[in-house]
Amino acid sequence: MTATEIKKVKALLSKPKNIVIVTHWSPDGDAMGSSLGLYNYLLLKKHKVQVVTPNDYPDFLNWLPGNKKVINFSADAKAATLKVAKADFIFCLDFNSLKRIDLLGQEVAKSDVPKMIIDHHLQPEDFADFLLHDVKASSTCELIYDFIELLGDKKKITKEVADCLYTGIMTDTGSFRYPSTTARTHTVVAELIKAGAENGAIHRLVYDNNTENRLKLLGYCLSEKLNVIEEYSAAYFYLDQHDLEKFNYKKGDTEGIVNCPLSIKSVQFSAFFVERDGIIKISFRSKGKFDVNKFARDHFNGGGHANAAGGMSNLSIKETIAKFIEVLPAYHKQLSVKKK
Ligand code: 5GP
Ligand code: MN
Repeated sequence: MTATEIKKVKALLSKPKNIVIVTHWSPDGDAMGSSLGLYNYLLLKKHKVQVVTPNDYPDFLNWLPGNKKVINFSADAKAATLKVAKADFIFCLDFNSLKRIDLLGQEVAKSDVPKMIIDHHLQPEDFADFLLHDVKASSTCELIYDFIELLGDKKKITKEVADCLYTGIMTDTGSFRYPSTTARTHTVVAELIKAGAENGAIHRLVYDNNTENRLKLLGYCLSEKLNVIEEYSAAYFYLDQHDLEKFNYKKGDTEGIVNCPLSIKSVQFSAFFVERDGIIKISFRSKGKFDVNKFARDHFNGGGHANAAGGMSNLSIKETIAKFIEVLPAYHKQLSVKKK
């Protein structure tokens, strides 16, 4: 963002406004952390603020300050639509294509008020007036910290804001271990802890929140469903509706499962397929150079980051997996293990 653009945003936000913050479908820790972090900051600046999510998010994020005030479009489209229609500034966080917010996207597109995207995903679409975008940023939460700093309000970060931003940085960096974690990330995190973020408690609230069913589902995935294709250093697994019912699935239970196969030394590419509401949702992860964003875009109508992306399929689960296996040989060169 240029200094002139920052000046413009600062001027627009200099008087109390009706602000709506929207984030992507199936919000994760970074989506909710950035939305509620910015929400708590803007409240301090005397704005009226409403966070609107396209659908529900997992229980392990329900403790975030401001959570109770969030409107979920899928549950209450009328209230959400009204808020968007009345907004005089809209922030779009942790996504950059209106497709990612489903039907809520039509309402955002209808509004002609200033919009700002703050995001770290690849290939942003051009639907906003302001863009704070950095694919190298660990998380949108890190960019919200930058944004507050650019507005000259670093000192105004409260414990509420800090707890939210810490959460998203922690979840999007896999607890500070992905290569997206930079010296800057650690500097920001240090500042957030100084501002009151309770790092130890946040880890427990987010990660030690399993139900017995969830842990058993994870065990079942790993022992019964995991397929490793040595030839392509790839691993995949799937859960169908029957599997989910067996373990009394609730939202968030499959979060992070896709990362597990990457802990196998030889596996560079992991795919996880889950049958939900009649469609197949897919998560892709890689370690090293294999670009799952491109893979998801090219074959499964999705996108994301180079090492973490998602997509979907309208085929049956069997057909989707057959398609996945069918396209793998095209990546033989990138994925084949270099024998020493
Ligand atoms: P997850 O596998 O955790 O759902 O998503 C991994 C990453 O890919 C996240 O950054 C998420 O925002 C992005 N992502 C997930 N699904 C999609 C999709 O269908 N389209 C696009 N463009 N990005 C996705
Ligand atoms: Mn993110």
